[in-house]
Amino acid sequence: MLYRRFEKGNMDVSLLGLGCMRFPMDGRGNVDEAKAIEMIRTSIDEGVNYIDTAYTYHGGLSERIIAKALKDGYREKTLVADKLPTWLLKTEEDVRRIFFEQKERLDIDVIDMYLVHSVTKESWDLAKKCRVLEILEELRQEGYIKYIGFSFHDEYSLFEEVIDSWDWDFCQIQLNYVDVEFQAGVKGLKYAASKNIPVVIMEPLKGGRITDRVPPAIQEIWKGAKTKRSPAHWAFLWVAQFPEILTILSGMSDMRQLYENLEMFSHKEIENVSGEDLEVIERAGDLYRSLIKHQCTGCKYCLPCPKGVAIPNIIRYLNDWYAFDNNPRLKGEYNTWLDPEEQAANCVSCGQCEKACPQHLPIMEIMHEADGIFGR
Ligand code: SF4
Ligand code: SF4
Repeated sequence: MLYRRFEKGNMDVSLLGLGCMRFPMDGRGNVDEAKAIEMIRTSIDEGVNYIDTAYTYHGGLSERIIAKALKDGYREKTLVADKLPTWLLKTEEDVRRIFFEQKERLDIDVIDMYLVHSVTKESWDLAKKCRVLEILEELRQEGYIKYIGFSFHDEYSLFEEVIDSWDWDFCQIQLNYVDVEFQAGVKGLKYAASKNIPVVIMEPLKGGRITDRVPPAIQEIWKGAKTKRSPAHWAFLWVAQFPEILTILSGMSDMRQLYENLEMFSHKEIENVSGEDLEVIERAGDLYRSLIKHQCTGCKYCLPCPKGVAIPNIIRYLNDWYAFDNNPRLKGEYNTWLDPEEQAANCVSCGQCEKACPQHLPIMEIMHEADGIFGR
C-alpha cells in the first residue's frame, strides 16, 4: 500500500481509503453484512487505514457495520471518518444529539476525522446559524473528535470562502478526470494545499459512472492507448498524480473491486502518470464532457422554484444519463438523493425558472424529460 503523510496526525495515511456508502448487497436489496465486514477487515489487513462513512449511508447501517468490523483489534489500526448531516439540523442542540448518536452507532470513544457533510450555500448558512463549528470545537476539547473538516458540493467561490473561514484540519472534494473544473475541482485542490489543508478525494470514479458502462467511443480511446488498463485504473492514475491529496476514497461494493484497487495502490506507477498517458486520459475527459446534452452551468439563478423542484440537480442527473450510457444506477440515485418534493414530477410549468436562466434552457421541457426517465 502506498501512503501519504498526514502531518497534523503525525502519521501516514493509505492513499486508498475505504468509502462505506456502497457496501455489497445480498440480491434482495439488503446490505450483505458479513461481506461488508469481510471487506472492511481485508482492507485494513492489506494496509488501508482510512475508513469513511456518514450518518445517512445505508440509513445508518454503514456506521453500525463498521462498529462490528472494528472489533477484535481493528479499531486501533485505522482512522474513522464520519460526517454531520448539516441539512438535517434544526437547532444547535441537534449537532450534539446527532454526533453522539453516530458515536454510539460506531461504538468508539473518539471519531478521528469529523466532517461537516456536503457543504453547499444552504447548508453552510444553516451550519453557521446552528454554531456547528464552535460546537465541534467543544467536542474536540472534550476529547470526542480529533480532526475537523468538511466535504464540499457547491461552486468554487464558496469553496474559497469556506476554506478561509476556519482553521480546518482537512477537507474532502469530488475529483475525477471528467469533473476537473466542477465544484472545487483542481483549482480547489491547489487552493486548499496553499493553506496547508490536506485533501481527501471522493468520487474518483464519478460514482462508478466512468467504469460501469463505458460508451463505445471512450472504449476506443482506451483500446488505442499503448498500455492497456481498466477504466478504473485510468481514472485512479489521473487522480493519484496530485501530491496535494491525502487519500482517495473508493466506495467498493465487492471483493473483486477491492483486490483490484489494492493491487493498483501497491505500485508506485499509480502516482507517476506519463505525459502520453495524461494526453489519453484528457481525450477521454473531453469526450465525456462533449456528451453533455443540456448546458446547465449550475449557477442556480433558476432557484428557488416555488414548488421546490431541485432544477440544477435534476439536469445533472439527466446529463449523466446521456453521457454515461443510460446507467440504471442513476434512477436509483435520483430517487434516493432527491426528496419526492424536489423531483421533476412536481414541476407545474409556471415558467418562472426559464425567465431567470442565463443559458435560456427550456427547463419545463427538461423537467418533463427527466420525469419520463427517472420518475417512478
Ligand atoms: S416551471 Fe417548474 S421547475 Fe420551473 S419554477 Fe415553475 S414549477 Fe419550478
Ligand atoms: S439558471 Fe439555468 S444554467 Fe443556471 S442552474 Fe438553473 S438551469 Fe442551470
